[in-house]
Amino acid sequence: MSSQVYYIIVAMMLASATLSIIFFIAWKTLGRQPYTLSWSVAFLAATFQWFFNLQSDWFPNRGIYWLTVNALVLALITLAIRGHCQRTDCKHLPKNLWPFAAVIYFGIIWTTVIKPHVGISTALVPATACLTMILSAIMILRHREQTRPAEWAAAASLTLFAASQGIAASMALLQGAAGDATYQALYVHYNFLTMPAGYMATSMFVIFMLASDISIDMKQVAIHDQLTGVLNRRGLGEQGALAYANTRRTGRPVSVVMTDIDRFKNINDKYGHAIGDAALIHFSELLKTNRRAEDILARVGGEEFALILQGTDLQSALDVADELCTKIESEAMLVEGFALSMTASFGVACVSASDTCLADTICRADQALYRSKRAGRNQVDLESSQLMLAADGTLKPITG
Ligand code: GH3
Ligand code: MG
Ligand code: MG
Repeated sequence: MSSQVYYIIVAMMLASATLSIIFFIAWKTLGRQPYTLSWSVAFLAATFQWFFNLQSDWFPNRGIYWLTVNALVLALITLAIRGHCQRTDCKHLPKNLWPFAAVIYFGIIWTTVIKPHVGISTALVPATACLTMILSAIMILRHREQTRPAEWAAAASLTLFAASQGIAASMALLQGAAGDATYQALYVHYNFLTMPAGYMATSMFVIFMLASDISIDMKQVAIHDQLTGVLNRRGLGEQGALAYANTRRTGRPVSVVMTDIDRFKNINDKYGHAIGDAALIHFSELLKTNRRAEDILARVGGEEFALILQGTDLQSALDVADELCTKIESEAMLVEGFALSMTASFGVACVSASDTCLADTICRADQALYRSKRAGRNQVDLESSQLMLAADGTLKPITG
């Protein structure tokens, strides 16, 4: 082995060991995600593979050496794609990819020992790497509705590395059964020129993608209420601003329904905080049911929730609130064998021309909510500025 090749292999072995440690620490400290463990073990297999490359003279013959390093590279490839499947929760590939790796490995044994063919025996691993990296890139790109920059980068580097491994596999095949010396030299030079760069670039971009996953998780935690899983006040601020911008752009109405559980303190005092928490979950579930995907539900206080109804005018929002008010009273929560019923009060408002942001509408819906509280609870009130005196002398919402 030339000294240049020796140094490249040492560098690859140390890089693989470092990557294995990085993914192991990520697994230990970042919520024990199975894909980080798969990648840690994958790079551990790679570390051993490079180590055996350095110590090839330990092996009794070249066949055993070749089968050992190829087994380790196949383990690396299988664990790497398994990690991508786990991360993206891919349903299109089988969970257990080891039988496929075993088939490829059988092909390597066949072309090394039983019916020797240097070209095929050398090409099988880079060809498998090419295929699995293309599949991994597709999984990354199809994982989310909106692919993030780190995911684009990881998918692009995987695709480039896949293309380079495809070319390496073709060069390996050109060696033919006996192992043509020119093509063998071409394959070795090409591989040592492109593989370290591809290997490191894909690894770095996958780590970058991991960091991006963490930032998404943190963002989700930051904008959601831990108890009920609905948005919190910050989440409402973000999504409400989008809904407001949308209504200003398109002219589609947006209504706000504010609701607060009646005498919730009594539930806590009588049954305890844990049942109080269960009641909050029950209440949020009732508010969630039958809502449209574009509606926004948020917990804005202890037992106060906001429902932003996009494309819904005041009259329809009033109907929604009335329906919810009846439903909450009639659908008691079952706890420890008894039925706990509760009621809630509601306030409804619709974005008007004079509103400068959604907070203005929310404020008016809140005032209406407190009017329903003062009027005796378990009822719906409408913001007063949007009421008009109907011909029959009653107050009606101004619609249309
Ligand atoms: P009203 O009909 O006027 O709304 O009366 P209320 O008792 O519902 O309102 P009040 O504001 O007096 O009490 C709200 C209670 O909600 C007090 C607080 O301890 C309880 N609370 C706030 N957050 C939580 C929570 O996360 N879990 C539980 N179990 N209780 C909570
Ligand atoms: Mg209350
Ligand atoms: Mg309250």
